[in-house]
Amino acid sequence: MTQTITVIRGDGIGPEIMDATLHVLDSMNLGLQYEFADAGLVALEKHGELLPQATLDSIRKNRIALKSPLTTPVGEGFSSINVELRKRFDLYANVRPAKSFPNTKSRFADGVDLITVRENTEGAYIGEGQSLSEDGETALLTQKVTRRGSERIVRYAFELARRTGRKKVTVVHKANILKSTSGLFLKTARAVATEYPDIECNEMIVDNTCMQLVMRPEQFDIIVTTNLFGDIISDLCAGLVGGLGLAPGANIGTDAAIFEAVHGTAPDIAGQGKANPCALLLGAAQMLDHLGLPEKATKLREAIIATLEAKDSLTPDLGGTGNTLSFAKAIASRI
Ligand code: NAD
Repeated sequence: MTQTITVIRGDGIGPEIMDATLHVLDSMNLGLQYEFADAGLVALEKHGELLPQATLDSIRKNRIALKSPLTTPVGEGFSSINVELRKRFDLYANVRPAKSFPNTKSRFADGVDLITVRENTEGAYIGEGQSLSEDGETALLTQKVTRRGSERIVRYAFELARRTGRKKVTVVHKANILKSTSGLFLKTARAVATEYPDIECNEMIVDNTCMQLVMRPEQFDIIVTTNLFGDIISDLCAGLVGGLGLAPGANIGTDAAIFEAVHGTAPDIAGQGKANPCALLLGAAQMLDHLGLPEKATKLREAIIATLEAKDSLTPDLGGTGNTLSFAKAIASRI
């Protein structure tokens, strides 16, 4: 197989974790070709734009991008380059796995293995119709939820369950209060669920979901929800299993998909070789699943777990004395 992917090395710790990730991918003989493209602060400095046309063209052509975190400078046109990318490519599904890993400083070192599927293009989060009255006393925001948007994200969650052998989808909402928006989402989800009798479906109100996640996370398998709830819940889930250094995310659309680490550019440790590459590596594993290479994805995840178990070359955030590249080399050696 030869597949070209767009690679965005990003800002801050971005280049370090990307080099480490590509080192591991190269060791797997996947036949991947890399087309490097710039975005973020580095693109602004080199090309005078945060998101150059050449980068958009590369993603459109290759349909797959692996992306390090980016800095969006304040007052540079976009509220966030990541949100802009989601809009440009209609990346409607934000898919964030949270899994317990050994030897991490987490609340649940065992038993958590869930995926949050967050609607990525609608709802309160996209900031439509924001205004502040002249006297500064009243702020408004429009929340739009559509049947089409709800249907495609819920369908994505059920299809993901089928594809990955997962058994249950939990629809998370606040339809008791947000009767129009969350109500439409829930009604649509119930209709879609009838098409998947092989997958158990339950419903849960978002506030209760947060409590249940903290107390009994093992009851969840796949969670599907609207944009803002998904944003909060997926970070909560990352916190349950060891934090940002181990949290990957995929942004999936019909014509393109972008795989990334959930964390930011970590300016406090940039350039010091201290960054944990696991989140981006786990994002790369999601990419391999998406490319139809699930055995390779499993191999990569198993090598990460084995390295964590052996406490071999772990980065300082995991209590080790290794560095970004030595950690990656230890992982590559186990593949
Ligand atoms: P951050 O995730 O960059 O850092 C939070 C803390 O976690 C820091 O102490 C950092 O050192 C640590 N950390 C993060 N990733 C780590 C890793 N891989 N290994 C070890 N430690 C790690 O969040 P922030 O400080 O709020 O944001 C910094 C910048 O990143 C901002 O400019 C923000 O806009 C940007 N950002 C980008 C993305 C993205 O592109 N996907 C996401 C979030 C934040």
